[in-house]
Amino acid sequence: MRLLINTLLGLALIGVGSAPASPETAAPRPLLVTVDDLPLTGAAPDSPAERRALTRAHLAALGAQGIRAVGFVTWKNVRGPADVELLKMWLDAGHELGNHSDQHLSYTTTEVEAYRADIEGARARLQELLAHRDRQLRFFRFPFLREGDSEEKLDAMRRYLAESGQRNLAVTIDNQDWSFDRPFVEARRSGDRRRQAEVAADYQSALRLAVRHHEAAGDRLLGRPAPQVLLLHANSIGGSEWPQLFAWLAKNGHRFADADEVLADPAFSDLPRVVAPYGYGLWDRLSQLRDETEAKRAVAALLTTQAEAWTTGDLHAFCAVYADDALFISPSGQTRGRQAVLERYRKRYPDRAAMGTLTLEVIEMRPLSGVEVTPQGDAVPGHVHGLSVAARWTLRYPEKETATGLTLLVLRRDGKAWRIVQDASF
Ligand SMILES: [Zn+2]
Repeated sequence: MRLLINTLLGLALIGVGSAPASPETAAPRPLLVTVDDLPLTGAAPDSPAERRALTRAHLAALGAQGIRAVGFVTWKNVRGPADVELLKMWLDAGHELGNHSDQHLSYTTTEVEAYRADIEGARARLQELLAHRDRQLRFFRFPFLREGDSEEKLDAMRRYLAESGQRNLAVTIDNQDWSFDRPFVEARRSGDRRRQAEVAADYQSALRLAVRHHEAAGDRLLGRPAPQVLLLHANSIGGSEWPQLFAWLAKNGHRFADADEVLADPAFSDLPRVVAPYGYGLWDRLSQLRDETEAKRAVAALLTTQAEAWTTGDLHAFCAVYADDALFISPSGQTRGRQAVLERYRKRYPDRAAMGTLTLEVIEMRPLSGVEVTPQGDAVPGHVHGLSVAARWTLRYPEKETATGLTLLVLRRDGKAWRIVQDASF
């Protein structure tokens, strides 16, 4: 794993040429640190004394850099009154607490009612704790960053969060910090110092890679240095490794900022609607939507050009958008290859009068993309490589009856251009 991560990090750093200027010259970018699954998660210790010591280590690492974090409480991780004291330590240290549910359910596999009840119970409990200090609960974070795998579920939680005054605090730097915790704790328990150091080094590499990747993506999207929200987990490896991580961030062009400053950026004012079974960082979500929108726009333009080519009698231009090996099927049979498709059209429509005026009315477009899994186990949205279009075609003639029918086109991206690879018209 280590070798892989180091290789990836090398590649990412090469790719970073186009991204943020060197840390010495650019203004440091604001970065909000958020910590999920408070008070402690992962392979956390059991004894109250050790749990207290680990929390102290987390708070010391944050405090040393003057970081004001938002910690998200998962009540199933609160083992009793001693753990509630750990939450109070976070508040005493000047951090803000947000709601991260009671049972850390996946919204993808939970019905709306049960999910909302879990979140609302957790909210009420946390608000009670905050009320003692005259503090108001402001933030919520979806467990696994899963916000709904249907429009209805997405809307249900958006409504509930708005009504209950909780703001969904998006993550921009999603990463796999949690996955290093168990190997780290196991190495420490077995006294294997070398292994422990290796896991720690992997943790740092993986986080740097994630920071670089998401920052380059955010900068590309916004066209400026994007503010960031880093996701970390309240685990054992964090207790050891945060000091080094935070020092690296500070040395490499970041300025630790609080929630109010970072969230004031317009990039966070209107979170994108992404219906998906998995959760991603904000820039990944926005990139996915941008890719899909661009693909639809490009294909819509292609269809318009094609209809115009038809209407001017230019069958050659009309067929230019078919792939070399395109398959055309219709009630009369199959035609394979662009040249054969062109010849078929020439035979059926020998002149302009026979061709008439073509309009293509899109019924729907579906960008074809799925979830990719990175070498680190992250789920990220895949690129849009294909797109299907259902449309109605209509041919109008000055002195002949109008002809109309349906078509289903499958297009693939070929470099920058889109090509029809399959066409079923009838
Ligand atoms: Zn969580």
